[in-house]
Amino acid sequence: MDSIYFSPEVDTFREQTRRFLREHIAPRLDTWESERRIPRDTWKLLAGEGLLGLHHPRAYGGRELPFFHSVAYLEELGRLGNGGFRGAMSVHSYMATTYLQLAGDHEQKLAYLKPAVEGDMISALAITEPHAGSDVSSISCEARATGDGYAIRGTKAFVTNGMHADFMVTAVRMADGPVAATGSGNISLLVIDAQAPGVTRTPVEKLGWHCSDTATVHFEDVVVDGSRLLGRKNSGFMWIMKAFQLERVAAAVLAIGEVDRALELARRYTGERQVFGKALAGHQVVRHRLAELMSHAEAARQLVYHAAWLHSRGKLAMSECAMAKLRATELAVDVAGQCLQLFGGHGYLADAPIARLFRDTRLDTIAGGASEIMREIIADTDL
Ligand SMILES: Cc1cc2nc3c(=O)[nH]c(=O)nc-3n(C[C@H](O)[C@H](O)[C@H](O)COP(=O)(O)OP(=O)(O)OC[C@H]3O[C@@H](n4cnc5c(N)ncnc54)[C@H](O)[C@@H]3O)c2cc1C
Repeated sequence: MDSIYFSPEVDTFREQTRRFLREHIAPRLDTWESERRIPRDTWKLLAGEGLLGLHHPRAYGGRELPFFHSVAYLEELGRLGNGGFRGAMSVHSYMATTYLQLAGDHEQKLAYLKPAVEGDMISALAITEPHAGSDVSSISCEARATGDGYAIRGTKAFVTNGMHADFMVTAVRMADGPVAATGSGNISLLVIDAQAPGVTRTPVEKLGWHCSDTATVHFEDVVVDGSRLLGRKNSGFMWIMKAFQLERVAAAVLAIGEVDRALELARRYTGERQVFGKALAGHQVVRHRLAELMSHAEAARQLVYHAAWLHSRGKLAMSECAMAKLRATELAVDVAGQCLQLFGGHGYLADAPIARLFRDTRLDTIAGGASEIMREIIADTDL
């Protein structure tokens, strides 16, 4: 790839990663979709390639590679055209474990980050609640101080990897001292073992993302040791806002990969499908539509790379990350729909790859910060 962002080393890494994903993952995705699961040994398989800890420190099993290795990996994950798989893996490596890397101490990293990077533990991130999604500051899952730890009570919604996770990085509201019902001041992060007594996990069915498990998780007086508090008490909201920037860049890169996949499918199909005596792609209206979508894809890609570059240089870049997430995910939804149209009825069949992209990309503009919230951030920062 001829680009100012990717060194020859990253290009080689991308090629190897693409080959690995196409040989070892792509052929199994249909089965996992219908079985509604990703087998546990898949995490180990990816860990064997070093893919679960590209940006994590070597001291905890990671490879500590420059960030554009992660960009290349996430783009290739998106290009698989399977939202559930890329969701499960990106939540594990770029969302849940981010909190351990940013706020965890050495013991916590040894206990959770290292096994996650090595594929021995599956991680999940539990922030959203049934009544609190976009507005993180209104969570109500409560942590009451006990002698040497906390008792947790409350419910988390839409937890990716929730059914199979070994631990969940969980946002809670501290209930010692005067308890505010809302507000960001007393939110903390705890690592909760998924097998702890009092944890109940219930799977939810979704429109797409079929192979990814999503759970509602209920905590009923779950006892958590004080050593599982990430960072300082009541610093949770600050860490969440910081980690959200990586989450948004990752979501944007994944969406660009999905756009590439939709266009690849459409270009192949319209080149083969004959209508009115010639290939569909031979009709000017179709050629122009594809050319238009390809130019939108390139414009969004450069914005996303720019946000990733700012992130790689340690900038918070709230507005640029929000713009990248907004543009790339809105484009993914649009392109998947327009490409499905080019397939005619064949695109509407449940197991058509373009139909899966249509279902799966629909979540892109909702999860990880909805488009409306991205627009709020951009307006707050730049208006
Ligand atoms: C399959 C799946 C996987 C997920 N994985 C995880 C996970 O692993 N961990 C986790 O914590 N969460 C996860 N989520 C939750 C996801 O991040 C939330 O769904 C998302 O943040 C939106 O929250 P909400 O669904 O509560 O919508 P709400 O916040 O209730 O919003 C509803 C609508 O109102 C809009 N809206 C909200 N506020 C405003 C405003 N101020 N102005 C204008 N419009 C507004 C929103 O954009 C949205 O369109 C997942 C969700 C799904 C569906």
